Amino acid sequence: MIIVLTCILAIAVIAFILGVRPKDLPAPEPVSPFQHLDERKAAIYENLRDLQFEYRVGKLSDSDYQATKKDLQKELAGVLAEVDRIKLSMNGAAPVSTPKKAAAPKPTATAAFTCDSCGASFEKPLKFCGECGKPMKVAQ
Ligand SMILES: [Zn+2]
Repeated sequence: MIIVLTCILAIAVIAFILGVRPKDLPAPEPVSPFQHLDERKAAIYENLRDLQFEYRVGKLSDSDYQATKKDLQKELAGVLAEVDRIKLSMNGAAPVSTPKKAAAPKPTATAAFTCDSCGASFEKPLKFCGECGKPMKVAQ
């Protein structure tokens, strides 16, 4: 009896897990329009890695390697261009986290008063540099 109950319970748990999973993990609607592009990009990178590996191992001839690599790079360029296009078309929308080549961090370049000695810059004119303590020329 206990065994039967245990079996039923186990089956119920499995059925529960199997039944719930598909609902829990609905193919999430593209979180961002870049998602499928990111996936393609990742796939291309992976292909490139595999290609390089196979080439190193000697499975590929030099010309095969070069040709396939060129194809993959062309595809990659296409994906990257599409990403750029979407980004442009979304201009004004909330900034999407752009890991690479997002606006290069400009060192607070608005500061007009720069120390000749150490290069520190300040928003206000100072007689002495706040960084290195050397006298600063104040443009009058
Ligand atoms: Zn200084």
